[in-house]
Amino acid sequence: MGLPQLQRLCKISQGNGTTDKISGTMSAEEVLSALKQEIQKRLPPDIRVSDLEFEGPSLVVYTEDSKKLAENGDIVRFLAKDLRKRIVIRPDPKVLFDPEKSAEKIREMVPPDSGITNFHFDTETGEMVIEAEKPGLVIGRHGSTLREITKEIGWIPRVVRAPPIESTTVRGIRTYLRSVNDERKATLRQIGQKIYRPATARDQWVRVTMLGGCREVGRNSFLLSTAETRILVDCGINVGGGNDGTPYLYVPEVYPINQIDAVVLTHAHLDHIGLVPLLFKYGYDGPIYCTPPTRDLMALLQLDYIEVAARDAKKIPYESAMIREVIKHTITLDYGDVTDIAPDVKLTFSNAGHILGSSVVHFHIGEGMHNIAFTGDFKYEKTLLFDPATNSFPRLETLVMEGTYGGANDMQPSRKEAQACLQEIIQRTLAREGKVLIPTFAVGRSQEVMIVLEELIRNEMIEKVPVYLDGMIYEATAIHTAHPEYLNSELRNLIFHRGMNPFLSDSFVQVEGSSKREKVFNEKKAIILATSGMLNGGPVIEYLKALAHDEKNTLVFVGYQAEGTLGRRIQKGWNEIQMGDNTLKIKMEVATVDGFSGHSDRQQLVDYVRRLSPKPERILTVHGDGSKCIDLASSLYRRFKIETRSPLNLETIRLV
Ligand SMILES: [Zn+2]
Ligand SMILES: [Zn+2]
Repeated sequence: MGLPQLQRLCKISQGNGTTDKISGTMSAEEVLSALKQEIQKRLPPDIRVSDLEFEGPSLVVYTEDSKKLAENGDIVRFLAKDLRKRIVIRPDPKVLFDPEKSAEKIREMVPPDSGITNFHFDTETGEMVIEAEKPGLVIGRHGSTLREITKEIGWIPRVVRAPPIESTTVRGIRTYLRSVNDERKATLRQIGQKIYRPATARDQWVRVTMLGGCREVGRNSFLLSTAETRILVDCGINVGGGNDGTPYLYVPEVYPINQIDAVVLTHAHLDHIGLVPLLFKYGYDGPIYCTPPTRDLMALLQLDYIEVAARDAKKIPYESAMIREVIKHTITLDYGDVTDIAPDVKLTFSNAGHILGSSVVHFHIGEGMHNIAFTGDFKYEKTLLFDPATNSFPRLETLVMEGTYGGANDMQPSRKEAQACLQEIIQRTLAREGKVLIPTFAVGRSQEVMIVLEELIRNEMIEKVPVYLDGMIYEATAIHTAHPEYLNSELRNLIFHRGMNPFLSDSFVQVEGSSKREKVFNEKKAIILATSGMLNGGPVIEYLKALAHDEKNTLVFVGYQAEGTLGRRIQKGWNEIQMGDNTLKIKMEVATVDGFSGHSDRQQLVDYVRRLSPKPERILTVHGDGSKCIDLASSLYRRFKIETRSPLNLETIRLV
C-alpha cells in the first residue's frame, strides 16, 4: 500500500473524515498502530492481534488465536486483498505445540502416501516447514488439511516439495539464513520501515538512467528514479568485456550507493546479476528483490564466477562474504505478487520464459502516475522448459525491452528444427566414433538440451551413450528440480502426474572433480555438456584442449556467442587459438545449432509488441548490438506508431 492509500485507510478508521492527524508525516509506528486498528476491526471479536510488525514488504500479524484464524479459512486472504498488503500471520510463541508431538500428529493427519521426508521448526517465526514428496496431499483440497493441522498444533505450516535431487546451494542458503535469522529480522524490520516511511517529495517525475547494457550485450543495469525513490534494475557484468565490463555505477545519479531504495533483478545470468555483491562492498544495505529460483541460481553463479576468476588468476571484484550479504538481503517474491517496495512504487514479477525464475518486472509508480516494465531477457515462444513471456499488464506506459536478436534478419529456426539438427550432428559424430562437446551456460540451455537428449535417447533416435555434465550443470539442474512450479505445464505434468522426471534419467553422469575428466577424454563415444557457454573459462576449456585435435569430434554451439569471447572466434572460423604459451589447433568439426536460444528472435520480438496489452506510449530497446537495437526500434515505430528509442549508456530519459 502506498501512503495515499494508507491515508485513505486511516481516514476510514477515524470515521469522521478528520485528515489533520494523518497527513503525509505519519511515522512507521503511527502507520502500524493505524493498521492494527484496521485489522482488529476486520477480524472476528474473539481473535486478538497481540502485535504488528513490518518485515520487509510484509506485514506480520502476531496473535494467540492463530488456530481460530485457521478455522476462518479465507479471512487472511481477504484481509490481504482488502488492505492490499502482503500479510503474514504468526502465532504467539505461547500457543505452539511441542515440535516432536506436532510431527507425530501431522503424520496421523495426512494421507499415508504424502511421503513426508522432513520437518523444520522455527521457533522465531512460529513456522514449521513440512517437506513432502506429494505436497498437494498434505495441503488438501483448498488447503483444508493444512488448516486442520494449524488448528491442532498452533504452528504455521508451510509445505515444500522434497527435491528429487538434493541441491547443495539450496541447502546451503537455507542453513545460512537460519544462522543469521536475528540479523536478517532486524534488517527486514528496517527495510519495512523505509518502505512505509512518509513520502516527503512534492515534485512528481520519473526518470530512467542507462548504466549499462545499451547497444551492447552485457553489464545490464538501469536506475529508475522518482522524486522519492531510487531503484536499481539489474547489476550485471560483461563477461567478455575485460576491464570495462562494469556498469557506470560511479555516476552522480547512483552515488552514494546506500541511498538506493531497492535492487530488483530480472534473472540470474551474470550479465544481469554478476556485480550485485559489489554493491554491498560499496556500502549498499537495502533489499534485493527477485524470484526464489533467481536467488538460488544467482548464489550458484556468483560463487562459480569468483571461483573461475580466481583459478584463471583474474581480478576478483568481490569475496564470497559479499555473496552472503546478497542472500541475507534478498526478499523473494513469486510471479504475480504485487508488492510495495517504496512509498511510491509497487513491484510485480511475471514470467519471462528465458531461464528458471526469469521475470518481466513491472513498476507501478505513484498511484498511477506511471507504469514501466523491463522485460529483462525474454522468450516469446513456448519452450521445452517454460511458458512464453507475459505481455499483459494492468497498465503500461513505458517498456524497456531486450533486442539480442532484434536485427531484421535475426530469424531463428523453430525448436523442432533445432532438435532435428542437433540429432543429425550427434548421429554423424557417434557414427564415426567421435565425441560431441556442447558448451552451455549452466543455467537454461543446459537443461533445455538435457531434455532434448533424454527424449532422443528414450525414443532410440540416437545411440544410448553417456551424457556427461561438467561444471555446475548438475547443481543448476538440482535447483530446477527444487522449483518445478516455475517450469511449463507439460513438464510439471510429466513430473507430478506421470512420475517421470527427465532430469533424473540414468544417461546423465555428473563429472565430479577434474580428476574424473581423464575418463571422459578416453571414452570412445560420448556427449559432453560443460560450462562456460561462450568458452570464456570453465571446464569446457579442458575438454576443448583434449578434443580439438581430432576431426572425429564435434563442437556444437547452442547458445549466443558474444563479441570478444573465444566461442565467437571459433564460431567465425578461427582454427588456431593462442592459449597461454601454446597454440591450440581446432581440427574437430565446429557446428552451430540455432533455435535453442532463450532469447526471442526478431519475429517473436515484434509479435510480443503486437500482442502487448495495453500498448505502451514508449519503447526503449536495449541488450543487443547497436545496429540491432536501432533496427528493432525503428521497425517497431514504423509498424505500431509507438515512440521508440535505442538509448545510449549514460543517457537519462524523463518519462513523466
Ligand atoms: Zn539471460
Ligand atoms: Zn542478458
